[in-house]
Amino acid sequence: MSATAQPTSPHVMNTYGRLPIALSHGQGCRVWDTAGKAYLDGLGGIAVNTLGHNHPELVPALQDQLTKLIHSSNYYHVTGQEQLATKLTEISGLTNAFFCCTGLEANEAALKLARKYGHDKGIERPEIVVYEAAFHGRSIATLSATGNPKVQAGFGPLVEGFIRVPLNDIEALKKATEGNPNVVAVFFETIQGEGGINPMRWEYLKQVRQLCDERDWLMMIDEVQCGMGRTGKWFAHQWAGIKPDVMPLAKGLGSGVPIGAVVAGPKAANIFGPGNHGTTFGGNPLAMRAGVETIRIMEEHKLLENAATVGAHLKAALERELGGLPGVKEIRGQGLMIGIELDRPCGVILNRACDAGLLLSVTADKVIRLVPPLILSIAEADEIVAILAPIVKAFLSEPAPQ
Ligand SMILES: *Cc1c(COP(=O)(O)O)cnc(C)c1O
Repeated sequence: MSATAQPTSPHVMNTYGRLPIALSHGQGCRVWDTAGKAYLDGLGGIAVNTLGHNHPELVPALQDQLTKLIHSSNYYHVTGQEQLATKLTEISGLTNAFFCCTGLEANEAALKLARKYGHDKGIERPEIVVYEAAFHGRSIATLSATGNPKVQAGFGPLVEGFIRVPLNDIEALKKATEGNPNVVAVFFETIQGEGGINPMRWEYLKQVRQLCDERDWLMMIDEVQCGMGRTGKWFAHQWAGIKPDVMPLAKGLGSGVPIGAVVAGPKAANIFGPGNHGTTFGGNPLAMRAGVETIRIMEEHKLLENAATVGAHLKAALERELGGLPGVKEIRGQGLMIGIELDRPCGVILNRACDAGLLLSVTADKVIRLVPPLILSIAEADEIVAILAPIVKAFLSEPAPQ
């Protein structure tokens, strides 16, 4: 496709800095654009396409569901909700789920749970602890919880009732909440995604769990990006051997079909009653089928193990190629959620990788992010490194722009 024939969007709101390509179809970890060029998918639609593209078991299941029922209504029982909720409680050790359509909606539900948890205890102005560099979504409440001024700029007044603390610092958390009777919850991502692949340390997670128990706070873990098998366990916090009280999910849960969920344990499972919360599309039969089949296929094909093994291989290979180079600060992450932090803004790597046939993203200005489908093979991981390493090396050898 010539430069003049690049797709444009004169009637679509200009909310994204888009690359000049449009994807037309995919197979496994590969996608093709409308001009016929192939790409290796290191992004998975931002940690969404768990099973890659055109999965031979998912697609027929969704086709079957389309012929039966796409949407009914939450006026009625939805069989798929019961099936998916049962499965989610089984793999999380929690007890109840509410279904919605996106990550921010799952987080809104969590924030409402926390506030009502407070009100039910007689706390009139509940406050929720959130973190620096966090990302929780683009609604007014979730952008207020987000720790990124760029996401908030232009949208004030922000929602009040948030206390912000740094990551991995239990003393800072204690100090920020000292003597405050209005605190009801601590809310964070186990591994921050948009914030630059920043993991909470396992030891810290245990300390926060203990503090939440002592103070009767809800521990609310946003696993929208790091959950659903991406790190090699169903949920990233499980590496620390702890359980949250509230866990929002979305992204990878439906392998591309829009779906969100908030999963709750005993402390939070009965906070909402009829009339307290709802959504028209949430929990519809098509989305539920996508969630149920995604988990079934993940189990059948041992994709947690695959994410752990291939992720470790990918990280080690990146480490070998790039680790210790001047300009490479750190290569971090778990399973198939990997960030390469450089010492300078590197947005241009996104374009260069795309030109070279590799999809990825750059987040927090300086972090190259890889969140490929969980079906990624060792050979495909090697291919990612073979494409990406020379691009990063060339980029780092250029004089810094003035
Ligand atoms: C993507 C993301 C969200 C927002 O999800 P949407 O579906 O875009 O609303 C929330 N939290 C985390 C951790 C995310 O990565």
